[in-house]
Amino acid sequence: HLPSEVLVECLNGLVDAQHLDPNDTVNFGEWVHSVFGAGIARHFMRPYNFKVWAHPLEMMSKRWISERVSVIDLKRVLANLVHQRDELSWGPNNTFKYPLYGGTGGLYERFVPYIRDHLRLNRELVEVDTETKRLRFADGGEDSYDVLLTALPIPELLRILRPIPGHLVDAARGLHNSHGLVVGVGVARPADTSKCWTYFPEPDSPFYRVTFLSNYSPKIAPEGHMLLLTETSYSEHKPEDRATIVDRVVDGLVATKLLRPEDRDLIVTTHTEQVDYFYPVPTLTRDGALAEIQPYLLSHDIYSRGRFGAWCYEISNMDHSVMQGVEVVDFLLEGRPEKTWQPPPTPVLRIETETVEAGSG
Ligand SMILES: Cc1cc2nc3c(=O)[nH]c(=O)nc-3n(C[C@H](O)[C@H](O)[C@H](O)COP(=O)(O)OP(=O)(O)OC[C@H]3O[C@@H](n4cnc5c(N)ncnc54)[C@H](O)[C@@H]3O)c2cc1C
Repeated sequence: HLPSEVLVECLNGLVDAQHLDPNDTVNFGEWVHSVFGAGIARHFMRPYNFKVWAHPLEMMSKRWISERVSVIDLKRVLANLVHQRDELSWGPNNTFKYPLYGGTGGLYERFVPYIRDHLRLNRELVEVDTETKRLRFADGGEDSYDVLLTALPIPELLRILRPIPGHLVDAARGLHNSHGLVVGVGVARPADTSKCWTYFPEPDSPFYRVTFLSNYSPKIAPEGHMLLLTETSYSEHKPEDRATIVDRVVDGLVATKLLRPEDRDLIVTTHTEQVDYFYPVPTLTRDGALAEIQPYLLSHDIYSRGRFGAWCYEISNMDHSVMQGVEVVDFLLEGRPEKTWQPPPTPVLRIETETVEAGSG
């Protein structure tokens, strides 16, 4: 729980914010101030969101928020304080499904038997010729398409598109993404919490989120072990040193009391993934860029979908990304309109997230 002076600052800010209209705001930073007030903005929303997005909140739009940011009911906050009651099960992803075996990859492995004969993995696409509808791969292979459904990040797709109109290259400058360092830490003792994940706005850890992966499924780590997955973002606005990230993550786990100092000796493994395309940041320039790029691609029978193919954070979780692919196929085969992806400008969505797979990210 918050120290009392911070609690009062947050409550004061919330009360003051009742006089502000979020509709008058033009960016995410202003929206945060107007909805949550100065206190929560200062102590949680601003530092936390900068840690997640690695971009200034003033660069970001407020249109994507929908159900991704839980907003505040002041009367409920006051009632909870008076009754000294904790609000535990809120948010669209407070329950979710996860495979017992095989982690996230296990979900997709179950598709393989149905498509094995058509599946070619580890082939880098190096050219898409929109005039001849031919594809060229790094291994020298070629193929042709009638309709191309692609999840390549849009900038990567534009890099290999031939011909590439200059206005698309200009438009793509309006798309921004964060990069990430994901560090997994295996510890030879059981977790002393049943939590799934926790967020960290504070500067005493590089990560903004830690997931207790071994709580997702007992088959994820050997018995008696816990597996922590930490996520740290970086960008030109927020550099991070890759060489020291593991040490800083472990220090952060101790500083945030997820690990005890003596647990350092129980760390049996660490693993680092550097992820170039981490989060598609919903910046103010995004929808304008997509409004140029997507119609051009569609006019050449290219359906760019998925986390970085659609570049819409609000529909970029696994469940959304998979359904975007399913819905394109349904549209092509049966004429059923797509539901998850919508042509830009992206509408403000009420996203159905009753049961999601593995939280959100
Ligand atoms: C840190 C983090 C945490 C997340 N947490 C969650 C979560 O808890 N729950 C959830 O539902 N979702 C989560 N997600 C989102 C989830 O990972 C994505 O929704 C999903 O992976 C998107 O699938 P996709 O097929 O659209 O894109 P991707 O999985 O990115 O697939 C695109 C593929 O294109 C390939 N590619 C790129 N260029 C080429 C080329 N030239 N030739 C051939 N292939 C190429 C890439 O290698 C990649 O494999 C998280 C994402 C991140 C980064």
